Amino acid sequence: MLTVDVINLLKKLLERASLQSKSFDSYKVNLLNKLQNSASNATTQALAKECLEELDATEYPLQETLSEGRLLVSQSQLQIQKIPELPDAILNKLTQTKNTQCPYTIIDHHNELSEIIRLYQRVINQLNNKSSSLVPHIDSQQILYEFNEELLRLILSLDIDSAYLNKIKHIHQTMEKSTCLQQLPESCIRIIEIIIDSTREERRSSRHFLYTLNDSLTKFNIDFTDNLKQADGLFADQSQCIKKMHKRVDRLSHEVRQHTDFSSLQAGIISYIETMSYLTQATDDEQKQAQVLQKFHTMAREIKDLQNKTKHYQRTLKDQQKQLQTDFLTKIPNRAAWNERLSIEYNRYTRYNNDLSIAIIDVDKFKKINDTFGHVAGDKVISVVALMLQKSLRNTDFIARYGGDEFVLLLPETNQQQAQNLLDKLCEKIRSIPFKFKKENISITISIGCTSFTKRDSIETAFERADKALFHAKDNGRDCYITFKEEA
Ligand code: GH3
Ligand code: MG
Repeated sequence: MLTVDVINLLKKLLERASLQSKSFDSYKVNLLNKLQNSASNATTQALAKECLEELDATEYPLQETLSEGRLLVSQSQLQIQKIPELPDAILNKLTQTKNTQCPYTIIDHHNELSEIIRLYQRVINQLNNKSSSLVPHIDSQQILYEFNEELLRLILSLDIDSAYLNKIKHIHQTMEKSTCLQQLPESCIRIIEIIIDSTREERRSSRHFLYTLNDSLTKFNIDFTDNLKQADGLFADQSQCIKKMHKRVDRLSHEVRQHTDFSSLQAGIISYIETMSYLTQATDDEQKQAQVLQKFHTMAREIKDLQNKTKHYQRTLKDQQKQLQTDFLTKIPNRAAWNERLSIEYNRYTRYNNDLSIAIIDVDKFKKINDTFGHVAGDKVISVVALMLQKSLRNTDFIARYGGDEFVLLLPETNQQQAQNLLDKLCEKIRSIPFKFKKENISITISIGCTSFTKRDSIETAFERADKALFHAKDNGRDCYITFKEEA
């Protein structure tokens, strides 16, 4: 039994989870009613457990990520259109990609897709520069080399079906041998198409599963309804028959007592035999009843089987969801997860007005680390920095890899002063990592731009302010943090 206060508190807490999922919202109303009427601790506990499971299984919308992905795609399409003298084949492919439906779940491979699109934009920019002769001596070999390097990195991080991955590997092999810069846009479009196709394939198989499930459930429903009708009829017949039997037995005993002559006794005996035949019929019906029961048992087993399959499928979906929100290299949350969490915390902030600070962290001179020690060392540095940052935060803080050597930090219930103390500590911790790569010491430092939300802020204005603060931190000599307040 919960007190009214606790139920009210729970109502408020669940309110915060509102508008994330329709099904959870309706479930919530039901749950609160049940809780209010709960008669024992055991029921309350069971309801709480069930609610936790329901929350775990609830998916949260990722609209922002979706529209962001779409924006990137359309930007890329516009950019490629700007290239002068674009070959017909590429123009055709461009029209095709424009007509292809946007992946419904851009979270599927959102990162990979964004990365390839950014890469693609860069290639287009370079080609644009070349054709407008702004850069007279562009080094084609260098561009191709960089493209192939990034493509290889993408291949290593892609988590798609091997058939699709092999297609991308094939493009990589062709591009490694190529010396023709003009082939780049086409290759990029091809890669985007392959990734989109792979996403579709995944959706197709999910849909197939749901169709099969639906078919099985429909079949079960029809069988069940038929059996129920059959059983209903049987029970009705049987009770009618028993009633009649009772009447006849009563009449028979009455008649046997009344009639003393042979013919009336004979009539009585005939009537008795008729009654017996009813009895036999009832026994037959019992057998039929057993058959129906047997069918019910089989159907119950089938339902259990289906339930298990569905549970397994739900688990797989949940794992996939988690994977899609995790950065491949560092295993901390990625940009998609960040967008989702930021919008949740921002909504909370606008409703309750508790302190909320954000920070953008960027590794200093990271290109130099890559150039001096190689990309493998660079990757290790990113992973170690992520680990150290994550270890230094509270449970309620949230960190994500925004991309490249950039991390973002969300600090709920933290004002500017408290944030500064933390950031000072973070700079110090990263500075003192004794990082070695192949026996060489690598010194790592970070710069941080930070700001706290104010009432007039949107997510974008606060983020821009933090970004400006980061720019100043870099300008200030790096290995430091700068916090910006909202301009009056
Ligand atoms: P600054 O101090 O101004 O930040 O200088 P910087 O050299 O760190 O400049 P910037 O932050 O722009 O450099 C980011 C570089 O990180 C560029 C890109 O080649 C590299 N990079 C991006 N993602 C990865 C990755 O996953 N692994 C590795 N090794 N390098 C990456
Ligand atoms: Mg950097």
